[in-house]
Amino acid sequence: MSRDERYILIALGGNAFQSKGDKGTPEDYWRNAYRAAETIVRIVKEGYRVVVTHGNGPQVGIIMEWMERSKDKIPPLTMDIAGAMTQGWLGYLLAQSISNVLLREGVKDSVKGVVAVVNQVEVRRDDPAWSNPTKYVGSWYTEEEAKKLAAEKGWIFKPDPRGGYRRVVPSPNPFNNVEVSAIKRLVDDGWIVVASGGGGIPVVRNDDGSLQGVEAVIDKDLAGEVLATSLGVGTFVILTDVDGVYLNFGKPDQKKLDVVMVSELEKYYKEGHFAPGSMGPKVLAAIRFIKNGGKRAMIGHLYNGYEVIKGRSGTTVLPI
Ligand code: ADP
Ligand code: MG
Repeated sequence: MSRDERYILIALGGNAFQSKGDKGTPEDYWRNAYRAAETIVRIVKEGYRVVVTHGNGPQVGIIMEWMERSKDKIPPLTMDIAGAMTQGWLGYLLAQSISNVLLREGVKDSVKGVVAVVNQVEVRRDDPAWSNPTKYVGSWYTEEEAKKLAAEKGWIFKPDPRGGYRRVVPSPNPFNNVEVSAIKRLVDDGWIVVASGGGGIPVVRNDDGSLQGVEAVIDKDLAGEVLATSLGVGTFVILTDVDGVYLNFGKPDQKKLDVVMVSELEKYYKEGHFAPGSMGPKVLAAIRFIKNGGKRAMIGHLYNGYEVIKGRSGTTVLPI
């Protein structure tokens, strides 16, 4: 794809499936997915070739809670399998809503269709994240319950800033998208591909080359960068629930960055302007994408997705 700016990888955040105040009914999921699909189709109609990825934090937590609550009847499964389940769940919502909006809008010739792939992403066995789990998943427990579960299952719990104790799992750094060459074939052939969902199913490679799932949740923005870079797209767009990247976020002197050079953004990153687990990985993913040869990275609000790609909204990160 030789870094063509008209090839875009779009990373969707939590608000592509649930908006504030939603209970998470099927109707909520469809309504939000259609809203995201409308933005994507508007971009496709402009002649861009689009690859889509998405997060899964809330949904992987829901599946783990289902497993926890029904464990006396149904043996609980592992977190890599839960991740695969969310790729099917959310990939289906996006594939169907995008293809129905394409049909409604009469987009025929430029797109073959929409396909969601079950996609594994490699992490390293010696990643320092294994000994420092940071990603909160599943339900909230009292300190007593947490201690009991920790002893029973070997899970690790940490106090959640919002109260109570929650299980934390490692979030290792992704470095290889296992099915990337198949995804590339589909994109080149005219398909809109939904891939690397939830940051991908985390796997490690054994000495004999075989793959094995691991209990972790990969950050979707960092995994999105791995996919964007290995596909060779020119543009990487992260759509979320805030209208851009801010310095001094949440403080009276907060300031939005409109256009920023990667070297300057890296300086702000090191100064700690971007919260870990939310804006931090988005900014890091944008920095990596540009340093790996990408032309432009954008971070902005999903509901202004079209304007973000046009550079009229959000934050644009450029080389140098
Ligand atoms: P997503 O589901 O899209 O990945 P996240 O909640 O992970 O969304 O990240 C977006 C959130 O990052 C925003 O809602 C905002 O509260 C938070 N955030 C933290 N630091 C910043 C910052 N410096 N600039 C903008 N947003 C920030
Ligand atoms: Mg996030």
